[in-house]
Amino acid sequence: TWARVKRRLRAELGEDVYTSWFARLEIDAVADGCARLTVPTRFLKSWIEAHYVDRVLSIYRAEDASVERIGLGVRGAGPREPATSPARKADEGAPARPEPMAAAALLQRPADADREPGDLSGAPLDTRLTFRTFVSGRSNALALAAAERIARNEGGALYNPLYLHAGVGLGKTHLLHAIGHEVREAGRRAIYLTADRFMYGFVASLKAQTAHTFKERLRGIDLLVVDDVQFIQGRTIQQEFGHTLNALIDAGRQVVVAADRPPAELESLDERVRSRLAGGLVVEVGALDEQLRVSILTTRIQAVQAAHPTFEVSPAVVSYVARSVTANGRDLEGAVNRLLAHATLTGAPVTLETAESAIRDLVRNREPKRVKIEDIQKLVASRYNVSRSDILSERRTAAVVRPRQIAMYLSKVLTLRSLPEIGRRFGGRDHTTVLHAVRKIEKALGEDNALSEEVELLKRMLQD
Ligand code: ADP
Ligand code: MG
Repeated sequence: TWARVKRRLRAELGEDVYTSWFARLEIDAVADGCARLTVPTRFLKSWIEAHYVDRVLSIYRAEDASVERIGLGVRGAGPREPATSPARKADEGAPARPEPMAAAALLQRPADADREPGDLSGAPLDTRLTFRTFVSGRSNALALAAAERIARNEGGALYNPLYLHAGVGLGKTHLLHAIGHEVREAGRRAIYLTADRFMYGFVASLKAQTAHTFKERLRGIDLLVVDDVQFIQGRTIQQEFGHTLNALIDAGRQVVVAADRPPAELESLDERVRSRLAGGLVVEVGALDEQLRVSILTTRIQAVQAAHPTFEVSPAVVSYVARSVTANGRDLEGAVNRLLAHATLTGAPVTLETAESAIRDLVRNREPKRVKIEDIQKLVASRYNVSRSDILSERRTAAVVRPRQIAMYLSKVLTLRSLPEIGRRFGGRDHTTVLHAVRKIEKALGEDNALSEEVELLKRMLQD
């Protein structure tokens, strides 16, 4: 099981994150629903606890559903206090005794430690992620144009730093890699780092007392790319990041960063670093519109066909997938992989029907159906034998009040409408009336099983 869990971790978290944080993760024991894992340092322990413990748990559970918790311990730290200490009660996930925070124990070299500590050659660039394979559309045209200029070294101070932000799967990492490739092809020095890798490199160089070299090396480059800067944490590390930014930008070297939110929303980031990041060009990459989704799918299918020449997807299926899978580029890629798996397993061509079942979970999970207030009112009315106009009316008889409150409650839970908006749609009621109804039903749900089943049923009927 453990070998499979590790393989999953590597696959799901990516090679870079895996080698930075998980390569030295080992299993100690599984007991009473708790998988006890160990790492060599306290730093790794707190890092994984702060950032990855939920992911690790869900990945672990995919292999062994009996595991309900993850306990992380430090091996061989503290005087004769191995993580396997039998003195620890089985129901405690975490190590019983915190190890002293010793500089030497802060960090050990990563598993791929043929590198020097503080080596920042960073993550390798993914050869698939180039400008050639990036599809442009309305939502990313500006980001693409800026990226291309920078890659050709035509940016100038106005574009420095370039700050790209967007939700997950909208192409930030793709653009960053594309810039990196092109800069390197032109014979200039580019370093691509994830936030994880940046922090790891910095802490590693501290430990090896090469922090100086770390800075020097970063400062000698032409382009620094830092992906997912929202993850850069810790005061010292943030300060160092800020110093590095300042040094590079002041020396006229290009910096490009990506994040999942605009600079102003990087709440945990040092104020000065934040404003430095916002001081260049800030570009948002928008959601993928349908046309862009079709293009991305088509490009992706063509790439797959290079390896699987018999894989065919009709335009009808492409447009069906593009209409159904709307969230992001990662899901589009996932959809193509599903179609391919189906096609290779069954040997049959991909039809609309097979496509539908192949991508069903991507559609379900990512796009809950939008429920309309009007539909709620109609359904609730017919369910309780009143008319929709009764629900919207001023009538206050019990036969109408309850259904009205249920409909308001469902409107609050199932639509994204505000209370005032819901009030307006219920015959021009005040938002406090809606709030009162919502509270009333919430309370009743906790006390009345029949009602709670009834409401659950209504929810399902509305969402399917
Ligand atoms: P982010 O870093 O914003 O979360 P990625 O760059 O990792 O997103 O994109 C997720 C996937 O979608 C990648 O496989 C990427 O190649 C693909 N993708 C996203 N946008 C585009 C695009 N405009 N053209 C081609 N592929 C795209
Ligand atoms: Mg990314």
